[in-house]
Amino acid sequence: MDGNTRGGRHSEALKNYNLRKILGHGTFGKVMIAEHKLTGHKVAIKILNRRQMEIMEMEEKAKREIKILRLFIDLIHPHIIRVYEVIETPKDIFVVMEYCQNGELLDYIVEKGRLQEDEARRIFQQIISGVEYCHRNMVVHRDLKPENLLLDSKYNVKLVDFGLSNVMHDGHFLKTSCGSLNYAAPELISGNLYAGPEVDVWSCGVILYALLCGKVPFEDDNIPKLFKKIKGGFYILPSYLSDLAMDLIPRILVVDPMKRITIREIRDHPWFQNRLPRYLAVPPPNTPQQAKMV
Ligand code: ADP
Repeated sequence: MDGNTRGGRHSEALKNYNLRKILGHGTFGKVMIAEHKLTGHKVAIKILNRRQMEIMEMEEKAKREIKILRLFIDLIHPHIIRVYEVIETPKDIFVVMEYCQNGELLDYIVEKGRLQEDEARRIFQQIISGVEYCHRNMVVHRDLKPENLLLDSKYNVKLVDFGLSNVMHDGHFLKTSCGSLNYAAPELISGNLYAGPEVDVWSCGVILYALLCGKVPFEDDNIPKLFKKIKGGFYILPSYLSDLAMDLIPRILVVDPMKRITIREIRDHPWFQNRLPRYLAVPPPNTPQQAKMV
């Protein structure tokens, strides 16, 4: 299927790409797999429909979102999705990004059940390193969950959806992202408008639990009951966890954001330090420093 002939309305903006197939549907539009016509390089193209954003009353926030997406063009980190270009037309915004062949971490956990500690640690180390890099560049994700963590051909993690999550959370959080409530920090669901890096730390804790246990720590079909569990920090640590994992998880899932462990302290924790690859051992420089080096 050639999207340039079939999907005629995208033809000019995406003239350098052959659109192949739909990878999935997101909140504002779809994501397609495509190939660069000259190089054959496979990319994923996220198509954000402006009309759809308008319907969802998000248009005035779209500017901020695009700004963040553009910032991501300059953010180069092995565990953050590469954004190659952002193409804007009056009808759509196309985000051309790295293609992650192995899909969402969520599906991987569902398929494999709980992961071996070493594999969980490898993935968690990559997530923390990506999140830390974003925080150093003044971007807080606020919607970290295994659906926003994609796996490339080597099963390495790539963080996605920073820009969108930032846009989505202002007031629309509870209305639009019900699927991610299990990963949301207590202060977020309490309606606290300030959401700093601590909310990402909490979500990383829920993800770590999910990696090691194959389920989320806070679960309930009834939303008020779920909120009660999250706000009270009520969860069970299974006895099969190693001592060090048992030590780390409760330091992350601390209801009071001021008392919660920081990314720096997670890094220093012996569970995290075990088998830490050299390239992740040193925190990455932030973008201006990187630019200076270039
Ligand atoms: P949402 O708005 O719900 O977060 P997205 O628009 O980000 O959804 O993604 C829609 C679907 O496309 C999801 O199944 C996601 O896993 C997939 N997808 C998004 N980006 C990529 C990518 N770069 N590589 C592979 N699959 C992707």
